[in-house]
Formats: sequence, structure tokens, C-alpha cells
Amino acid sequence: MRRYVIVGSGAAGISAIETIRKLDPSGEITLISDEMHNYYSRPGLAYYLTGELAEEYLFPFSRNDFKNLKLCHLQARVVSINPDEHQVWLNTGKSLIYDRLLIAVGASAVGLNIPGDNLAGVVKLDNLDDARQIIRLARKARAAIVVGGGITALEIVEGLLARGVRTHFLLRGETYWSNVLDRVESGIVLHRLQEEGVKIHFNTEIEKILGNRGKVAGVQTRDGRRLACEILAYAIGVRPRIELAQASSLKTNRGILVDSRLCTSAADIFAAGDVAEVYDPLSGKSVIDSLWGPARDQGRIAGANMAGVAAHYSKPIPFNVTRLANLTTMIIGMVGKGMDKDLVGIARGDSETWRRLPEAIAAQSDFDVNRLRILVGQRNLLGAIVMGDQSLSKALQDLIVNQVDISAIRDRLLQAGAPLANLVTDLYLKVREKDARPVY
Ligand SMILES: Cc1cc2nc3c(=O)[nH]c(=O)nc-3n(C[C@H](O)[C@H](O)[C@H](O)COP(=O)(O)OP(=O)(O)OC[C@H]3O[C@@H](n4cnc5c(N)ncnc54)[C@H](O)[C@@H]3O)c2cc1C
Repeated sequence: MRRYVIVGSGAAGISAIETIRKLDPSGEITLISDEMHNYYSRPGLAYYLTGELAEEYLFPFSRNDFKNLKLCHLQARVVSINPDEHQVWLNTGKSLIYDRLLIAVGASAVGLNIPGDNLAGVVKLDNLDDARQIIRLARKARAAIVVGGGITALEIVEGLLARGVRTHFLLRGETYWSNVLDRVESGIVLHRLQEEGVKIHFNTEIEKILGNRGKVAGVQTRDGRRLACEILAYAIGVRPRIELAQASSLKTNRGILVDSRLCTSAADIFAAGDVAEVYDPLSGKSVIDSLWGPARDQGRIAGANMAGVAAHYSKPIPFNVTRLANLTTMIIGMVGKGMDKDLVGIARGDSETWRRLPEAIAAQSDFDVNRLRILVGQRNLLGAIVMGDQSLSKALQDLIVNQVDISAIRDRLLQAGAPLANLVTDLYLKVREKDARPVY
């Protein structure tokens, strides 16, 4: 009977367990996680913060679902791995022998590292406990300050607003999420936030967090201003939790390096999800994502290989549909590059691939609240951002993922004022019609 040990009860860990159990009904599976809670949806935390989703709906598995997986669940922290002995050590002093091990420990928020960052009221949004803490603090807080970029910073802003807290959003430059969004898109998001009542401070950096009796009382900015608040929330990026792998001499870069089977540099140890750094055929480099879908997919591939069924991970073109200032936004493929002063690395719900833009020309169209930007390569579409009306999302996703030849419409796409929606829809329908034609 094979002994499987899975470290981490997030999307990647649970998906691996589901796969292993299907392929190996009698294997012994031990899940080790340092979280108090059962498997829950992290993307759902944004909706939990705004009050749109009750806590109970964050948990996709029933008690029965867990029972059917026939696993032993230990609430503990893995502190070291001995790859030669095939042994893991827990913070409880206990150790376990494995035949196959999966490291699916995710990523954690990069800290602020400024004076006062240890005061009560300094918060991040990594997990359910963080969300609960923000909700608890918001009950009494009059004002909050949010620093950072990417999706998580906005999710915190929206959550605090929904709870009636006066919210300041501090940006180091003049744009938001500038290595993914262009100036127009950033402008749309920031304008909507201002309309919702958020006070945006451009070109502003925090010098130190001010405290009163151990609690946040405000911040002092580098230009000498003081802003009062009871909550200081930060979302300046995430970093894969590679310490465990490093201490066990596994090969790491920014994440744990894995091959196409998601096996690490040590035999019988696999890695998946936010902690893994995988090869990206689109850019020819190894990249990290912080995306739910890829974490589940990687868990499935790692799980199959652990159970002895060969499977290879081919990184799909990263894709996310999210909400930015209440505007549904789809991001797919390569859409931007350059520096973002508000982020160290990537944020949650983000992909490094989105920034690996080679030579491409942007075709774009804007309406009052809708924005469409398509990155046009030599023979195919490289990426797209659709803000607001999502009727073109499916077509663009199909054309980009399947790398459909756009030669027939490329010149017209790039003409000023081109009817982008019509051109994309016509091409999509033609491709679909061709694919649907029966083969005799
Ligand atoms: C607020 C928020 C919003 C997000 N929004 C989106 C979105 O819009 N779209 C999207 O696609 N993705 C989004 N994500 C990202 C997505 O949730 C992650 O990519 C996904 O959860 C990664 O899964 P994982 O299994 O790799 O890691 P995680 O889900 O982070 O799970 C890792 C688990 O391992 C545990 N652990 C860590 N170290 C140890 C140890 N030494 N011993 C034992 N256990 C340990 C952790 O406590 C954790 O429970 C969001 C995430 C957050 C937090």
C-alpha cells in the first residue's frame, strides 16, 4: 500500500488527493495543513469581505465529500523534509514516512517592512482568518488605508467600503496595476473607485505607521503628511513559500522548480500550485502564477504521477475573470509589461505570463464603461483585456487559446477606429463553423 503525504489543504493539495483517490483506491493518504479550516475558496474571500457571500458558502466540500476521500487529516506544520529517508517532520515533534510527497504550501503576502508594521490593525488578505480579522476591525474603524496593487488591494478596498469604512487608497505612482493594465484601463478603475467614495492618493508612499497603545492610529507619508486610520491593509505582492524546499535542498528559483510531471529535483517529491515554478511554452521561461484554475490543474497532474499514471503539465494560457471596482474584467494571455511600483512580484489572482509581452500592437476600443484591448501578434492574437460587457470574452478566449491564424483580418484589426467586435466575432464564427463541419 503506497503512502502519500500531501502538505497543504488548498486548491492544489485537494485536487491532487481527489486524483490519487480515483487512481489508487487503497493507498494511504495523509493531508497535513497548518490551517484550522477545511478546504475553502480563497477567491471567494473577496465576496465574503463585501458581505455578498456568507462564510458557509466558501466551503465547496461537504463532510461526506471528505469522508469519501478516505484520508487522514493532521492539523500541523511541516518543518522539515528528509528526501533521502523519505521522511517529513512536523512542528508537533511527530514524523511520517512517505512513498510520494506533494508540497502544495502556496504563497504568502510580502510584508511591508516599515516602522510600525507590527501594530494591531495592520492587515493582509491571505486566508480566511485574515478576512475574519478585517471584518472584525471594520466594525469599529472609521477610516482605513490600503496600500498595494493588483486584484487583492482592490478587493480589500471594496470590502472596507461595503462595510462603511472611509477608505484611502495609496498609490506610489499615478496609475493602478500598471504592468497589466494600460493608462486608460487604470483610469477607468480609479475613476470608478473615486465615484464610490474612495479617496485616492497618487504619488504617495508611507514613511511609517503611527500607533497608539499598540494599535494603528494613522500613517506618516514620505512627503510629511499625516493620515488618520484604524486599519492599515497591504497587498504589495505574494511570494511562493519555498523555505521548506530550500531547507531540504530541493532546487528553487522564485518558486520550487518542477519538470513537466511536476516532480521536483528530489525523487518522489512533487510540487504544485502557487509554490511551483513551471515552464511556460508561451514565453519560453519558467513562471509562477497565483491562480486557482492552474493550481487545481497542477494538483491533478502531480496526483496522477504520484499514483503511478504518467501525466504531463502543459501550462495553459493564463486566464482570469475578476471584478475591478465592480467592473467585470477578463484578462487572458500576454497583455502588459514594465514596472509596477505598487507591487513586488505578482499579486493574488495574477500571472507572470500576463507581463511577458513580446512585440505586439494593441487594437483597442472604448465606450463609457466598456473597454476592449487586443494584443495583435504577427499571426495570432497574444492576449486581451475585456472590461465591462463580456459578450466578446468567449470568442477571444477561443481565438487566443487555440492560436487561431488571424492573417485574414490582421490589417483591418489594426486600422484606426476598426470595428473590433465585428471582426473578432466574424472570425470566431467562421472558425467554429469550420470546426463543426462533419468530416467524411
Ligand atoms: C483574497 C484572494 C483572492 C484571490 N483571487 C483570485 C482570483 O480572482 N482568481 C484566481 O484564479 N485566483 C485567485 N486567488 C489565488 C488562488 O486562490 C490561489 O492561486 C490558490 O488558492 C493556490 O492554491 P494552492 O493550493 O497552491 O495554495 P493555497 O490555497 O494557498 O494553500 C496552501 C496551504 O498550505 C498551508 N501551508 C503552508 N505552509 C505549510 C506547512 N509548512 N505545513 C503545513 N501546511 C502549510 C497553508 O496554510 C494553506 O492552507 C486569490 C487568492 C486570495 C487569497
